[in-house]
Amino acid sequence: MSDNFESVTAVFGKNVFNDVTMKERLPKAVYKEFKKTIAEGRFLDMTLANVVANAMKDWAIEKGATHFCHWFQPMTGLTAEKHDSFISPTAEGTTIMEFSGKELIQGEPDASSFPSGGLRATFEARGYTAWDCTSPVFIKETGKNITLFIPCAFCSYHAEALDKKTPLLRSMDALSKQAVRVLKALGNTTVTNVGATLGAEQEYFLIDRKFYEKRLDIMLTGRTLFGASTPRGQELSDHYFGSLHERIASYMHDVNFELWKLGVSAKTQHNEVAPAQYELAPVFGTVNVATDHNQLVMETLQKVALRHNFICLLYEKPFRGVNGSGKHNNWSMVTNDGMNLLEPGSTPHDNMIFLVMLCAVIKAVDKYSKLLRASVASPGNDHRLGAHEAPPAIVSMFLGDQLTDIVEQLASGGAKTSKAGGQLKLGVSSLPQLPKDSTDRNRTSPFAFTGNKFEFRMVGSSQSTAGPMFVLNTIVAQSLMEIADELEKSSNVKTAAQKILTKIAKENGKVIFNGDNYTEAWAKEAEKRGLPNIKSSVDATKIIADDEYVKLFTTHKVLSKAELKARTEILLEAYSTTICIEGKTALNIAQRQILPAAIEYASTLGKAVEHISDAGCNPDTEKKILNKTCGLITELTNSMDELKDAIAEVCDIDNSAKKAEACRDKIVAGMNAVRKAADELELIVDAKTWPLPTYAEMLFGK
Ligand code: ADP
Ligand code: MG
Repeated sequence: MSDNFESVTAVFGKNVFNDVTMKERLPKAVYKEFKKTIAEGRFLDMTLANVVANAMKDWAIEKGATHFCHWFQPMTGLTAEKHDSFISPTAEGTTIMEFSGKELIQGEPDASSFPSGGLRATFEARGYTAWDCTSPVFIKETGKNITLFIPCAFCSYHAEALDKKTPLLRSMDALSKQAVRVLKALGNTTVTNVGATLGAEQEYFLIDRKFYEKRLDIMLTGRTLFGASTPRGQELSDHYFGSLHERIASYMHDVNFELWKLGVSAKTQHNEVAPAQYELAPVFGTVNVATDHNQLVMETLQKVALRHNFICLLYEKPFRGVNGSGKHNNWSMVTNDGMNLLEPGSTPHDNMIFLVMLCAVIKAVDKYSKLLRASVASPGNDHRLGAHEAPPAIVSMFLGDQLTDIVEQLASGGAKTSKAGGQLKLGVSSLPQLPKDSTDRNRTSPFAFTGNKFEFRMVGSSQSTAGPMFVLNTIVAQSLMEIADELEKSSNVKTAAQKILTKIAKENGKVIFNGDNYTEAWAKEAEKRGLPNIKSSVDATKIIADDEYVKLFTTHKVLSKAELKARTEILLEAYSTTICIEGKTALNIAQRQILPAAIEYASTLGKAVEHISDAGCNPDTEKKILNKTCGLITELTNSMDELKDAIAEVCDIDNSAKKAEACRDKIVAGMNAVRKAADELELIVDAKTWPLPTYAEMLFGK
């Protein structure tokens, strides 16, 4: 036991150039200056960068590294890396290993093949990567290759953001600036910086690799495009938190060790609701580092899966009929001296800082609910949101009894009391009395207060956390800015703050909903309250560059109008491309696998009818099955023709919004029709002839 403990502590962060390593390897003065630069959010000066780079290189080479790479997060939502070796040939024909400060802080990858949404013409190829020195460099071992990774932001020749990280970093600055103003106005003069924190719970599926190899749909699209539902799904509720299967537990063990080496604090692991579904949650961290870490989590889950002959599926809805996967983004704000601004304390009604921060979030979520919805828009999430397994597309907030009561008190003038949690008595003398939380949980809410943080539960499992997080940081920065403006000009801060809180409670309280978000009644009630319900990702994405949001993002210097427009284009194009690939894959499988199997089965039935008849028996039953099969084959081929036409039609559309709409309305509908006939065929065609692994095999095969 103690061996294991030691090995974890020895392994944790071993591949990270972290604070301990820096302290060991950098001259004292350089270390101090470097830490100061990071803390103050300044540029790294070149002399300093040279010393830091050299120490990093020595450390990396000792660990077997031959290369370094700038690691960035383009608009594909994935990560990108271009490796350069440290070698620098000498005149004598030998080589030395070099790594300069410039190479550390700046890279110039060709940007022309990354989505830019028109920000850059193809011939304007130059892009720049810049080290985000608040996220430590690390070493990644991929097979035999060992490389020093430098987390970076990525921009165009004209300094426009081409990635997910740049707006995230900008939004952190914006949030910090406005939160510090508010704190100062409320009398706190010590805080100089406020950070956003993120703990991203990651859900995923694991299926055996042998099934994957027979499913072109999973290979090319990440999800099943066909598959009749299994006789048994998740209805026994026997998977969630169930005891771990040995193969899964070994996999999780290896994932954890890989992540710990990278300094990713993988903490929680368990079976999720759907069969073959699991979750991993790390200990939270600063939002930009946590975003980098979530990318490493997704990559590691997939990489280690292969070693165990699994395939890890991160897609939001890989299997119809069982729950899909989300990524719950737990978010809060913390001061540089360690105060969690969303910590209510035992008497939240008289905790002014908490109340102001809480109301700032309430206002932000209510006013910018469409943007939050847009921040989680993706083809995958369209299958998930509102499907009684994830929150609906209506953004509302769960506060629980205690805080809702306080907000109601605020709305009628001021908060005087806080409901207490009390004790839980279990009625067994040997069991302890448990302190009861002041609020219950609500698993159906898109944006739930969970003790001392909010949990944004609409985020899709395959998504980068950067998008939803920079939106959240920015909209809260906006609320805080409005509050700071009021407070700074008032002569009596306490009265002014009370007035602001009452106004927000009255005007924005409509976004609070503690009930069951999955019900039809809530959809109706939300409509009455005027809360938007944007069901499709395409509609959600189209609003991003509306004037109101351009104003918001430019005010806080998070994104310019051109950058917002480009992002809208990129997201709409990505939607269309994804749906077109799905449509073409569905056609390919239907044509080359399902149809031949169905015809083969029909011809077997045809022969059977003949033979039975020849034998002097009545072949009516076999004929009936044959007729049904032939009918479905006709239905299948007709719907395939329609899908083919829809794909051809959509290809000719230039306007990105119109194209995405057509993809949604025609191709998605076309795929559903093809799938309906195919799934019905699956239920009657001989199992030996059916070419695709079934849902039952994939979800329950161990
Ligand atoms: P749940 O019970 O909601 O599934 P988990 O333990 O799986 O909770 O995940 C909760 C996540 O919230 C963890 O990643 C945890 O580190 C994170 N978290 C806790 N406190 C904060 C905070 N102040 N800011 C951001 N994330 C937090
Ligand atoms: Mg969880």
